Amino acid sequence: MSTAPAAGGPEATTAGPSLPPIAQAGTAVLRQVAKPVPPELMGSEWLRNLVQTMVDVMRAAPGVGLAAPQIGEPWQVVVLEDREELIAKQAASGLYSPSVLAAMERRPFRPLALVNPELEAEGAEGVAAFEGCLSVRGYAAVVPRYRRVRVRALDPEGRPLALEAGGWQARILQHEVDHVRGVLYVDRMLPRSLTASDNLADWVRSLPADLPPLGPCSCCHPIDRLPG
Ligand SMILES: [Zn+2]
Repeated sequence: MSTAPAAGGPEATTAGPSLPPIAQAGTAVLRQVAKPVPPELMGSEWLRNLVQTMVDVMRAAPGVGLAAPQIGEPWQVVVLEDREELIAKQAASGLYSPSVLAAMERRPFRPLALVNPELEAEGAEGVAAFEGCLSVRGYAAVVPRYRRVRVRALDPEGRPLALEAGGWQARILQHEVDHVRGVLYVDRMLPRSLTASDNLADWVRSLPADLPPLGPCSCCHPIDRLPG
């Protein structure tokens, strides 16, 4: 997942020369249900290398999450990380009011790699916020997401892990787990909120009245139902 870029800021979504390119919407693998990683590949060099490459691509973009299909690998593997510098950059951009920033609940966390993740909502609280995707370069839209989720997955060594997440981390998890199901944020966005990233700052200030205000909302769609 990309963070919505600051107004007028550069949009760096191109990976370095030694890293694989990020697949853009219209690439078949982004619309396929990814394959679960089988037990015999847990802890393998292949899986460790895949995770390391994904972390490198995510950081180079820069982004806060990446799913394996985004680099053309049709497997149920996701990585996510949020960094103080990215959070501070967003806060300094003045894009969002303090109350919206508070509702986004963005806090730094170390890189996480999840294999074969299963996600469920915890409670019915929702949050409406702009998000973007490294595979839908140049755009952002409001996506209602659950405020809190629970995730069960394996780590790259095949050990079970359980995670309870809230706020921005919960949003990233919903976005990335969607990717391994072949779902993009555009399937869940409020269509009339779509903006070119370059227009985001103006658009945030002039959202039409038929869109919900950014922040807490109750307009979430059930996440176990794929958008139709
Ligand atoms: Zn994405």
